[in-house]
Amino acid sequence: MLSSKRIQKALKHPKPTPPWGAEPLLGSIYGEEEIDAAVAAMRDSMDFKKGFGFSAPPIPDFEQAFARHCGTKHAVAINSAGPGLDMAMRYLKLKRGDEVIVPAVNYQASPLAVLGAGGKIVWGDIDPRTFELDPHDVERKITPRTRAIFPVHMNGLSAPMDDLIAVGKRHPHEKHGPIPVIGDAARACGGGYKGTRIGKKGLMTVFSFHTMKNMTTLGEGGMVTTDDDEVEKFCRSVRMYGAAVEAWGTSNVMTKVQAAVGLVQLGKLDGFIAARRRLAKARDEMLDGLKEVTTPYEPRGSEHSYYLYTCLVPKEWAGEKRDRIMQMMADEFGICCVVANRPAYLSRKLLAQNTKGQRLPVSEAITARLFCVSIHPAMDDALNEYICAALITCVERIRKGG
Ligand SMILES: *Cc1c(COP(=O)(O)O)cnc(C)c1O
Repeated sequence: MLSSKRIQKALKHPKPTPPWGAEPLLGSIYGEEEIDAAVAAMRDSMDFKKGFGFSAPPIPDFEQAFARHCGTKHAVAINSAGPGLDMAMRYLKLKRGDEVIVPAVNYQASPLAVLGAGGKIVWGDIDPRTFELDPHDVERKITPRTRAIFPVHMNGLSAPMDDLIAVGKRHPHEKHGPIPVIGDAARACGGGYKGTRIGKKGLMTVFSFHTMKNMTTLGEGGMVTTDDDEVEKFCRSVRMYGAAVEAWGTSNVMTKVQAAVGLVQLGKLDGFIAARRRLAKARDEMLDGLKEVTTPYEPRGSEHSYYLYTCLVPKEWAGEKRDRIMQMMADEFGICCVVANRPAYLSRKLLAQNTKGQRLPVSEAITARLFCVSIHPAMDDALNEYICAALITCVERIRKGG
């Protein structure tokens, strides 16, 4: 842990004004290369015979580069992760009463996709160390109606894909066979799992290039990765009205300007993740020994992308004391924190109404203790040390009853 001398020195760093957002509104870094790529794509479109085209270059180039990055056979570019999650659920052709197991500690997008496709949400509980969907709880919740296991790669760490896939294989659906695992990797672009990149394991994976994420294509955008030819054909078709598979579709296409920028961002992604990892590992060390704060856990074989730096306070500090730490960090030190995420049935009424009677003890207890401290690849070492010194100061104040 930082010595009191180093804490004092680190706190001489000016207080960031405006404060660092808990999830900074630009999650990556842009340079002149992105601007040049966007302008070149626009210039190329000024030709009347060309325009912006239908799936015009460099969209296929971006898709192929992204597939190579993930080690998958296919990647399909889309306008946002949300529609990709919808496509994944529509691919299942759910019948009334069909169930999809999705973690409650989650953003609203994937459970909404289950509802949108006419499925029944079955909440899965989380592993209290990783905050990922717990395979044991999934196994308990499988029924003959279970059609998919739908983990989110929470806050940048991979879900336990091999274990979830094994559960799906142990309990095949009578008609559809092994239960597929579909990943929401909106927060986990660039992370790794057992020698693979996030996006490789499972039937399909959905990524987001929203402005806050690990990389962004001009603020919006997304990608679906898969090794399955049928899934690829389905997604490629339904992202533009679905004629080739005679399924319902709408327009969910990415523009060539976004793809041009995406290619540049993808080239920088490893660097962004390396920066996030370096900051996170330095934090782990600087906070090591601060007994009231559990720093993020990285299971062996996983490469956390640290979209968020997720910490826990002890049981006795759940709720109010955790909230006071977050408040102090923001007000006094200009470093915002966020609870990512409370159980989705507590944050969205629509989800609560559709999952009446389902409560998750681990998810509720853990999310009363959880908070994520602002992290961003553009932070320098002095700021990182300031953030740790600030957190130690807040925790010590609470400890002393202040
Ligand atoms: C951001 C996010 C989404 C939505 O991504 P969009 O590209 O904005 O649609 C979905 N799931 C999770 C976990 C997210 O964090």
